Order: sequence, then structure tokens, then C-alpha cells
Amino acid sequence: MVRKMGVYAVLAFVLYGLFFYWYLFYFADTKLPFEYEGSKADPSTFLNGRELDLSEDYSKIRNLLFFLSTPFEWLFYFLILLFGFSKAFKRWAENTSKYRLLQTAIYLIWLSFFAFVATLPLNYISYSLSKTYHISTQTFASWMKDELIDFWINYGTWLIIVPILYWLMKKSQKRWWLYGWLLSIPFTIFMMFLQPVVIDPLYNDFYPLKNKELETKILTLADKAEIPAKHVFEVNMANKTNALNAYVTGIGSNARIVLWDTTLNRLSDNQILFIMAHEMCHYVEKHIYFGIGGYLLLSLLGLYLTYRLMNWAARRFGKELKISDVRDIRSLPLFFMILSMLLFVASPLTNLTSRYEEKRADRYAIEMTKNPEAAITSFQELTRSGLSQVNPPFLVKIFRYTHPPMLDRISTLEEYQVKHRNEQ
Ligand SMILES: [Zn+2]
Repeated sequence: MVRKMGVYAVLAFVLYGLFFYWYLFYFADTKLPFEYEGSKADPSTFLNGRELDLSEDYSKIRNLLFFLSTPFEWLFYFLILLFGFSKAFKRWAENTSKYRLLQTAIYLIWLSFFAFVATLPLNYISYSLSKTYHISTQTFASWMKDELIDFWINYGTWLIIVPILYWLMKKSQKRWWLYGWLLSIPFTIFMMFLQPVVIDPLYNDFYPLKNKELETKILTLADKAEIPAKHVFEVNMANKTNALNAYVTGIGSNARIVLWDTTLNRLSDNQILFIMAHEMCHYVEKHIYFGIGGYLLLSLLGLYLTYRLMNWAARRFGKELKISDVRDIRSLPLFFMILSMLLFVASPLTNLTSRYEEKRADRYAIEMTKNPEAAITSFQELTRSGLSQVNPPFLVKIFRYTHPPMLDRISTLEEYQVKHRNEQ
């Protein structure tokens, strides 16, 4: 039975992968609707032939990797349970130490290590693909360093969560999901507060803007939006990527707007001011706080569903998955698997709200800067630097796009341009 379930799971993954291969490479039509042909959103008006081909190829492979990587995680956790690895990790932990907490730490290091090794090939392919297409400029050593930082941050975070989680399960078999959720509120808020000052600097260097002339312009704009100057940062990314980006992060006194130095190097001042005004909207409209609120609501539902699904799986497949009791640490891969599935299922909804906020930010930015030409060309440059698809396939859009496709973003700006040209 165990072997049969393993074979079925692998087979299901392969079929799923083939489906997405067919969908992305043969079925999906990413040709521009004819009414957009020749418009400023038409990539053939601002990319050369080579860039056009590259962006199509690169996006297809990237999208395929995206759709493979999450279910691959599910497969991994499923096989870890099915073939008794989870049971073995626990035995190794018990043989190493007699202290409960230390046993959990050892169990977790084994599980994390196996997960790291299993997902490394896909991550490496993704890195080397991005390197081949000249998006990533990162050396292998620097990439590996980031992977290892990821590993230890994840490990550290779960080392705080897992012992509390299983302690709660033992204390209250029926309500652990609720108590766990209540505890996750201060934890989430604390982590969001620490993110920009403790975690992000482990990966990259952050500093005030280097270009002082540009800084004055940005701070004048920030002043208009009532954002204190000390919240604007530059980050050194040029030795990692050619892509452009800017984002808002952190909460309270650690809230900040961060501009990648690649953005500052590649765009003109007016283009940067548009991008900056876009980020200011996220800051001013407190999108991060809405994000945390939404996340907490979803996680309440998610933890409840996890509780129900874990009990169901243990009842129905406890023998095959070697879980006699969900309150035993051996069920942790099941917890991770269900969590990852729920996150995947929820992603179309979270992406949808994110796209709505992005749309608002674009609108805010153009109203503030009133320079559609700079705005449009900055988005064209963003498309070129990341070789992104202007018109992605439907499933890619709903599962992957936290921002509206460039087709929508650029044509909205073009409409604004036309409208305001007529007014003058
Ligand atoms: Zn944005």
C-alpha cells in the first residue's frame, strides 16, 4: 500500500507538471489583443527582436518552474512521511538527547536539511536560468550564501514556533489552532517590525540615498506626501541582479521605502520620481497594515482548516503516513504540507488584493507626478530589465502576479496621457 501510494503521488506530480508544460508552452496565447498593437504597451514598440524572443522564452521556463516548485514541496513532505523518514528523524533526535526541547531542535534540523537538499536543484535551476538570461549578476558563492541565510532564518523561526505549537496541541487537542493563532498575532507584528532592520540587512547593504541631488528631489516629493525623510533607503543590488525594483517594508518606526540601486542607476530622475511616488502611495495608504490584517484573518481560517485536515489525514491514512497521533512531532511534515497547500490555494485571492493596491498606487503616482511619458518609459524599462511578460497567460496571472500585467499598467497610463493632452 505504501509503495503504491508513493508511486501514485509521483505520477500525479508528473502529470501535473506535463499539464503545465502543455499549458504554458503550447496552449496559452500571450499574443497581444489586436487593439493594443502599436500602443505603448506593445512590447514590439520598445523591445528589440532579441529581447522579445528572450522575454517569451525566459517567462515560459520561469512560469513552469514556479508551478512545479510548490507541489514539489507537497510531494517531498508526503514521501518523507510515507517512507518513514519523519519517524527516523524523531528516533535520531531521541537517541541524541533526552531533553524534549533539544529533541525538537534536532528533529527540525534533520527535516530542514532534507528539505533544503531536495529543493536545492530546482532553486539552482532557477538561479542559473536567471543568470543565463542576464537577469541575475550574482556569483554562485553569493547565491549560495543567500540560500544558507534563508535556511538558518527559516530554521530559527520554526524553532520558536514548533515547540509552542506541539505544546499547545498537547494542552488542548481541540483548540490549539485558536491559541496558536492568538499567539501568532504579536509574533507576526514583532517580525514585521524587525524585518527591515534585522533580517533584510543579513542579505544586502542598506543606506541613505547616495545621489544627493536626486535625494533632494525625492525628499521634496516625500514631503508632499507627508513622509519623513529618514524613511527612504537605497539598497545595494547591482552585484546580484539587473532587474529594477522598489518596495515598502516594515511597520511603525521601522517603516521605510527602499529603492534598489539598479533602479537608481538605470532610470532618469523623472522616471525614478514616478516609481517613488508609487511606493509612497503604499506607504501613505498603509497597505502593509491592511496586508497584516488580511494575513491574520486568513491565517485564522488556515489554522482551523489545518487542524481539521490534519485530524482527517491521521484518521484516514495514519497507518501509511506513520502518524498515530497528530500531537506527535512526527506529524510536522503533514503540518507543513497542508500549510503550503492552503497558501497556494489562497494565493489567487491575496494576489488579487495586491493587484488592486498596485493599481491604486499607479493612479496615485501619476496624479502626483503628472508626467505620463516618464511613467510609461519607466514601466517599459522595468519590463526590459526583468524580461517580464507584458500579457501573461491567465493561470500565471492569477497565481503569480502581485502586480497587474504591464499591458494594463502601461495602457492605463497611456489613457491618462491622451486624456490630459486633450485638456490642454
Ligand atoms: Zn507597488
